[in-house]
Amino acid sequence: MDQVFLLKKMRVLTVDGAARYYLDAGDFPMAMDQFLGRTIRISATGRKVCNGCQQEVNALFRMGYCTPCFYTHPAAGASLVSPEKSTAHLGI
Ligand SMILES: [Zn+2]
Repeated sequence: MDQVFLLKKMRVLTVDGAARYYLDAGDFPMAMDQFLGRTIRISATGRKVCNGCQQEVNALFRMGYCTPCFYTHPAAGASLVSPEKSTAHLGI
């Protein structure tokens, strides 16, 4: 099975005390426990996609944002570099 998707940190769900790991592979999460004991291959395409605007770009900066998103995207605010500036606890 060949799929192209943006590699992200896997999600973990706990079901009946057992951890299940899911890889966001395109349009649906893929349960990774089905691959236990099997060989899988993941290779990089070299393409860079911004975490904010989802556009393919030439360069990425901190946390995988392009230059415009690094300065404007809410998730890449000042608290990214200076955690003491976070307003998340204020609901802002
Ligand atoms: Zn962007």
